[in-house]
Amino acid sequence: TEPIRIAIVGHGNLGRGVEAAMKHNHDMRLTGIYTRRPPARLKPLNPETPVFAIEELDQHTDRIDVLILCGGSRQDLPQQGPKYATLFNTVDSFDTHARIPDYFSAVDAAAKPNAKTALISAGWDPGMFSINRVLGEALLPNGETHTFWGDGLSQGHSDALRRVPGVAGAVQYTRPVPAAVEQARSGLRLPLTTREKHRRDCFVVLDEGADPEIVRQAIVTMEHYFVDYDTIVNFISAEELARDHSAMPHGGFVIRSGHTSENITQTIEYSLKLESNPEFTSSILVAYARAVHRLHAMGQYGAKTVFDVPPGLLSVKSAEQLRADYL
Ligand code: NDP
Repeated sequence: TEPIRIAIVGHGNLGRGVEAAMKHNHDMRLTGIYTRRPPARLKPLNPETPVFAIEELDQHTDRIDVLILCGGSRQDLPQQGPKYATLFNTVDSFDTHARIPDYFSAVDAAAKPNAKTALISAGWDPGMFSINRVLGEALLPNGETHTFWGDGLSQGHSDALRRVPGVAGAVQYTRPVPAAVEQARSGLRLPLTTREKHRRDCFVVLDEGADPEIVRQAIVTMEHYFVDYDTIVNFISAEELARDHSAMPHGGFVIRSGHTSENITQTIEYSLKLESNPEFTSSILVAYARAVHRLHAMGQYGAKTVFDVPPGLLSVKSAEQLRADYL
């Protein structure tokens, strides 16, 4: 059978991750990378991969089976998602949780009348964690679900740190509080506050002459980002920042514990430990691209989420082989 023809829109961390994932998925072929920047300036991992200006996409509808949208959730996807779902089957990782219902409607309205299939909000959260929250509740209705993130680098909180006056560079790690994780596992139904569940560790390089105490205060009192957490601010040198903090690790747990009868506690735990958040997220997007290709062939059009995709469709193996190998 012919390989599935994949193309990438946007060459940031996820775009590069999709490129990297291609070499582990032999039923697919990368036909191109599309960017808003001058194509000649991009360096694809494989120098033979063609890079195009994004405006050329409209003319390439017959070259691409699934378009993987790797733009940012804040500004790129709200515009690119609905726009390209009129012309292509798509996969994206839209992760602004509160806006997902509106985003779904906009993409659905674009895809359905054009007989395209568009899988939104794939990744690990939203994505794999969402699936595990649904499973936990369905299998143990009498229980509670807790999601913990980390240890991991939070891009949004690192950006917020960099906007504080006096900060030259910074990263922020989110870390689950071990006592809270233990409590979630134990099945005790005590509510956990935001502060009890996660801690925030900041590594900050100061501008020359900046007062560390003023910077620290500005950080720990920042609304929406830090004020509701125990936040530790560590001051480091620019060399240390570059040397020790340029990887993008992440991960976390979804824990469901519940009772099937009075004294019987059952616990389900799904855990991720990621050395590279974008490379893992991209691997998920690629598996969902395979599923989207198959859903489209079955005539299932419109916007979809991870809840709508049977796991067998993600696998390169046939249904028959999966029954033999894994049931
Ligand atoms: P990046 O900021 O690296 O890239 C976003 C876009 O910015 C790219 O598509 C690219 O578009 C443009 N860009 C990238 N590098 C540059 C540069 N040097 N100069 C100018 N423009 C650039 O974002 P990520 O790839 O890290 O993440 C994308 C989104 O994925 C995030 O917004 C996040 O919401 C989501 N995500 C979701 C996860 C999940 O579990 N669901 C997990 C991780 C991320 P172009 O080539 O067109 O210029």
